[in-house]
Amino acid sequence: MRIQDIQQRLRDHGAKTGHEQRVLRAWLRAQALDAGPQKRLVQDVLPKSVREILPALSTELETLARVKSEHPAQDGSARLLVELADGQTVESVLLPRDGVCVSTQVGCAVGCTFCMTGREGLLRQVGSAEIVAQVILARARRPVKKVVFMGMGEPAHNLDNVFEAIELLGTLGQIGHKQIVFSTVGDRRAFERLPLGVVKPALALSLHTTRADLREQLLPRAPRIDPAELVELGEKYARDTGYPIQYQWTLLEGVNDSDEEVEGIIKLLTGKYALMNFIPYNTIADLPYKRPSWQRAATMAGMLHQRGILSRLRNSAGQDVEGGCGQLRARTARVEFK
Ligand code: SF4
Repeated sequence: MRIQDIQQRLRDHGAKTGHEQRVLRAWLRAQALDAGPQKRLVQDVLPKSVREILPALSTELETLARVKSEHPAQDGSARLLVELADGQTVESVLLPRDGVCVSTQVGCAVGCTFCMTGREGLLRQVGSAEIVAQVILARARRPVKKVVFMGMGEPAHNLDNVFEAIELLGTLGQIGHKQIVFSTVGDRRAFERLPLGVVKPALALSLHTTRADLREQLLPRAPRIDPAELVELGEKYARDTGYPIQYQWTLLEGVNDSDEEVEGIIKLLTGKYALMNFIPYNTIADLPYKRPSWQRAATMAGMLHQRGILSRLRNSAGQDVEGGCGQLRARTARVEFK
């Protein structure tokens, strides 16, 4: 279900813009539409024809996504295995400091060689209402002030649903625009759409290497955009919005942790409105990669700092419960994490 379907249904039953917003706001606050504190407001404000469809609509919204299992991690994050109405599953991660990481696709077509999500390809798109439902499931558990689109899937491959969700979250959902992070491997269609939205999210670009040939190997089905061009496209958006681009770099020992890569980053990012996030690889069984030592990663971040490039070294949230970057997947009961 898409958000526009919900809106259309309400309009078809006589809802005006204000009525529609009231219903959507209650949903976004994880409140029942026709019970509890909403009941009085609903009775006083909404036309009878709209009130009559609320019980059925509530049930549908509740069954869009449900938490099948919850896996708290030591760092305060938690991985949620979320079942969608058709039985497919995605994963969301409750992040420390009031954030949630949501999934935009079941599986992923990009097939990054260090990521679990893309191993079985793309199974289906996640609808805009299903994306928002993940935020609502998180809100039912803890406050949410930040939403990052870094879970399963490539958001640029599901632009209509992702932008619909972003618009609702950044308006009626009251999430600050900078607190919404659109993450992509880089896709020209995304760069065309991003500046046009009512809500302009912050942008994270998954770079991973400065070498075009290595990038093709690591991200085999990402659009062929040279790293230098990707940085130029990002820089334009950063200057237009006033938010720095967050470059994502999964550190793989012996693959993209060399001094040459650091020099390449310095060449690409000097003078750019950018922040480099180094994320040491999270171990995935059967994959040939290793994470470099923390000391090596810190040295790389230090080298960038010395040359005036902001960089951060961080561990993914929730690694101990397989909730870290690259570890999310459409788990069946058979592979469910214990
Ligand atoms: Fe897809 Fe992101 Fe995994 Fe790459 S890292 S396969 S883009 S989910």
